[in-house]
Amino acid sequence: MSKSLQAIRGMNDVLPDDMALWRSFSAIVEAWLERWGYRAIRMPLVENTALFRRAIGEATDIVEKEMYSWRDELNAEELTLRPEGTASCVRAAIEHSLVYDGPKRLWYGGPMYRHERPQKGRYREFYQYGAEAFGFPGPDVDAELIVMCARLWPELGLKGIRLELNNIGSAEERARHRADLVKHLEAHEGKLDADAKRRMHANPLRVLDSKNPLVQEVAAQAPLLAGYLGEASLAHFEGVKKLLAASGVEFTINPRLVRGLDYYNLTVFEWVTDALGAQGTVCGGGRYDGLFEQLGGKAVPGVGFAMGCERLVALMKENPDRIPAARPDAYVLHQGEGTLEVAFTIADALRRAGHAVVMHAGGGSFKSQMKKADASGAWLALIVGEDELRAGDVSVKALRGGGDQQRIGRVRVAGEFAAILEKAKA
Ligand code: ATP
Ligand code: MG
Repeated sequence: MSKSLQAIRGMNDVLPDDMALWRSFSAIVEAWLERWGYRAIRMPLVENTALFRRAIGEATDIVEKEMYSWRDELNAEELTLRPEGTASCVRAAIEHSLVYDGPKRLWYGGPMYRHERPQKGRYREFYQYGAEAFGFPGPDVDAELIVMCARLWPELGLKGIRLELNNIGSAEERARHRADLVKHLEAHEGKLDADAKRRMHANPLRVLDSKNPLVQEVAAQAPLLAGYLGEASLAHFEGVKKLLAASGVEFTINPRLVRGLDYYNLTVFEWVTDALGAQGTVCGGGRYDGLFEQLGGKAVPGVGFAMGCERLVALMKENPDRIPAARPDAYVLHQGEGTLEVAFTIADALRRAGHAVVMHAGGGSFKSQMKKADASGAWLALIVGEDELRAGDVSVKALRGGGDQQRIGRVRVAGEFAAILEKAKA
């Protein structure tokens, strides 16, 4: 026997029981995005590697070590499986002049790829929903995107997801802060580990994120960006906070919140839960006013977020009564000479009338067919036996809840089925 093959590490199969939950999650999220005025867009899973290098930044974790990149010899192209959606979405907006006639609100969903160490809540293929608003310079749309999320969590039945917020200012303000930060890190170089030393010049803000206690000590004494923010940046952030307060959305300011992608400015935020251990961030986002120009477009401001679906679905799973049961309306079984054709056409007629019907396949005793009907979760069993065949009837048996078995004329089944089903569900 040949050795069986397995899925790639960190890339998950989602089996039918879990897919029911995933699909209800997706239905809620997609309806919510549309309700807030965001319109769907779809981008390819594969882009030019240069797009992500330019957008996300050379010295980020993602570009340094997490991208699935390869050279396509057939076309002599450097390609990458997308590690996130914002870069592609901005690329598409520039390529198709999406904002020529005014600002746009967009959403997308789908798999992202990062070569990380797989663990609970951290995978190599994972799904995100993202929302991006292009062409809105004011703080109102930052607040809109944040309040939007605040309204989603209860729709998903989730509690205890808190908001962390920071103002990371403009590129110029960050540059001045960064120069002083590097000076501070250089002055304490003796306490830094290899990772911090390597990052100190390329991406000193990430040094502040270090989990190493010695490095944290140095980070705690480092100059804070807040001290470098000018009037315009402060006013923008005040505008965001005002609308959050007006909406009753609580937040904590986390002055150390820096996102793992270089393109952000002004508002950055994360939604965090304690219920998932180390992988507690379920959604992250912020403003990226320089990204369009960085990718060769006109200056168009942008702001958006991306949420991690695996983490949110895992939270929903802790609340089992929210998990929808995928029940067919009826399971159709048959036994005896000539009954298959009748059962088969009844199932067909019911489906054409809009009902969810599973047809028993493969024969078997009446008892074993009833067992399968029950295991299918169906509300009703429709039975065509030799008796029913002779009388021109179908037997209807309620599999869940109450109701006796009844016989009705075959020709009346399609017409009366909805009423029978409603009674079985009551
Ligand atoms: P983290 O700090 O957890 O690594 P990140 O800052 O790299 O997250 P983003 O790039 O902002 O994450 O992506 C947005 C969201 O996507 C995250 O908040 C998280 O919920 C989810 N996410 C990111 N990477 C993964 C992954 N490898 N597996 C599962 N979900 C992920
Ligand atoms: Mg990450």
